[in-house]
This record gives sequence, C-alpha cells and structure tokens, in this order.
Amino acid sequence: MSIESKIKTLTEQLNQYAREYYTLDNPTIEDAEYDRLYRELATLESENPNLIRADSPTHRTGDVVLSGFEKYTHDYQLYSLQDAFSREEIEAFDVRVRKEIDNPEYICELKIDGLSLSLVYENGVLKTAATRGDGTIGENITEQVKRIKDVPLYLTEPIDIVVRGEAYLPRKNFQKLNQEREEDGLPSFANPRNAAAGTLRQLDTKVVAKRGLATFLYQEASPATNDTQEEVLIYLEKLGLVVNHRRTFATNMTEIWAFIQEISEMRDDLAYDIDGVVIKVNNLTQQDELGFTVKFPKWAIAYKFPAELAETEILSVDWTV
Ligand code: NAD
Repeated sequence: MSIESKIKTLTEQLNQYAREYYTLDNPTIEDAEYDRLYRELATLESENPNLIRADSPTHRTGDVVLSGFEKYTHDYQLYSLQDAFSREEIEAFDVRVRKEIDNPEYICELKIDGLSLSLVYENGVLKTAATRGDGTIGENITEQVKRIKDVPLYLTEPIDIVVRGEAYLPRKNFQKLNQEREEDGLPSFANPRNAAAGTLRQLDTKVVAKRGLATFLYQEASPATNDTQEEVLIYLEKLGLVVNHRRTFATNMTEIWAFIQEISEMRDDLAYDIDGVVIKVNNLTQQDELGFTVKFPKWAIAYKFPAELAETEILSVDWTV
C-alpha cells in the first residue's frame, strides 16, 4: 500500500472511531488501540507533511455534535491535550518549554477520565453547560448538568465567568448502575467514562439525577483574574465549584516523574477513574507566551498510564436506553 493510501485509510478509520467514541458514546475499539493508530498516522504525517489530509484527526478536536441536541458555540475554544506515553516524551516537552521560559514551575494534576464540560455563569448564575464537541461548537446540555448535585446553580460571587472541567461517574455509582442494568436485562456500560457520556445525553433529566454524576473543575476559560493555575484552582473552589485536591508543584523531571509514580501506585484506591497526569506550566502569563497549536496548548502535556487489560468487552450498543 502506498504511503498516501495508508494515510487515507488511517484517517478514515480514526475519524470513524472518533465519531463512535465522541458523538455516539459507543466505542468499538480500546483507547490504547486508537492511540496506537493515531500515533502511526501522526508519524506518517510528520514524515510526509505534503500528504496530510484536511480531515486529519491530528488537526482537530473531538467530533461533530449530535443533531438531536441544540448546538452551543463556545466563546472560548476548548482544546485537547498533547499525549505522552513515556518519561522521554515528557522530557522533550520540558525541553520545548525551557526554550521559551526560564526555570518554569509546573503544576501536576490528575487527568480525570470523564467528559469535558464548559460552564457559563452570568452574574453568578449558571446559564449554560455544554460539551466540548469539536472545540468550537458543542452540545447544550444545561438541563442535564443542572441535575448533577455538585454543580452550583449560583456561585458565591455575582460574576461572569466561563469554567472548564470534567464530568465523571464515580466508580461506586458506575458499579451500581451496571448491576441495575444487568438485573433489567440491559447491556452494561463498558467503563465509567462511557456511562458518563451516555448519561449526559439523556433527554430525560430524571435519569441524569438518578445516576449520580460528579464534577471536577480545573480551568477558567474567560480571561483569568489570577496569576497562576494554582490560584485559579483555589479561586474556583471559593466560588463553590469542586476542584481536585491531589496536585503538586514540580520544577524538574525528577519531581514530575515521582508524582506520576505516586499516583500510578494509588490510582486503584481513588473513588473515580483517571487515565493519567496532566503537567501544566503554572504561571498564566507564561502559558500565554507559549500559546497553542491548532489542537493543543503548548504549555501542557498529558502523561497517559499504560493501558490496563480490558475488563469489559467493548459492545456495540444503543446507549440511549
Ligand atoms: P484526552 O482525553 O487525551 O485529553 C484531553 C482532555 O483531558 C481535556 O479535553 C479534558 O477534558 C481532560 N482532562 C481531564 N483532567 C484534566 C485536567 N486536570 N486538566 C486538563 N484537562 C483535563 O483528549 P481527547 O481529545 O478528549 O481524547 C483523546 C483520547 O480519547 C484518545 O487518546 C483515546 O484514548 C480516546 N479516544 C478513543 C476512541 C476509541 O474509539 N476508543 C476514539 C477517540 C478517542
């Protein structure tokens, strides 16, 4: 097969998988296999930049939104994160950052394995909640998100702010949900992420309330009033939003890797799924200096834990039931 045909086949395959994963909440392959094919395509593209296709998944975020939901145009674009699968790849990221920034300080956070969420508050009141979609246009899921108990309908201050975070299904609630589905003769969800995504697309908001989703917020998308990511997290918590407390600062690779090891050893004890650790430049002015690619911020990288053996077979199922 020529390189051009190989690139075309991989692009089409990955776009189909992305549609099944993001839009239909119904993945048909394991994430690790998706990541492997994605990397294969990215390598071929970097060696043959003239053959990159306009519809390449390496140049866009997520997928198109479902037609059944009202579309929401984000005021501030949502990005994906660049992945790293080894210590060397984080080292390469650190080298890139250090070319632009002297002695960067990093903040390392857990990578929550859920669904990207954007919350728009006006005068302190929750106005809109939306999915990431393709980063520019998402789905309006305000009524669904209002049924998540830990999302405040009113902030503690009457401000206008757009915040980003992750909606997820705690493991306990995921197990309970699958047990009930089994008893009712319904197919099980493959994993908590998949169940969370399917739940937020329920038109019957009573179902959302019953399943017990939860959130962690981690970003101020509207122009930040703080100087660092750490200050943003403290501020979001002060506003009444839920923020994850497991985080650390790092100024070198040894500290970053020690945190990754620590989290990787205790991840099974957490009440929710994580799929890695996100390493971010802490200073927001330095983040601005580093900027973005079409798909990722250049000031962050997501280390992904090695794939665990699949516990549940990925089934082709109608998740709307
Ligand atoms: P991603 O999941 O690799 O990382 C980006 C996302 O991480 C952000 O959008 C945000 O929602 C989330 N996140 C969680 N905690 C965060 C934190 N503390 N700070 C910042 N962000 C945080 O990227 P993606 O574009 O959402 O998805 C790509 C991945 O999805 C692939 O690597 C693959 O594993 C999976 N995928 C699987 C299939 C499949 O068919 N199995 C298809 C498409 C994608």
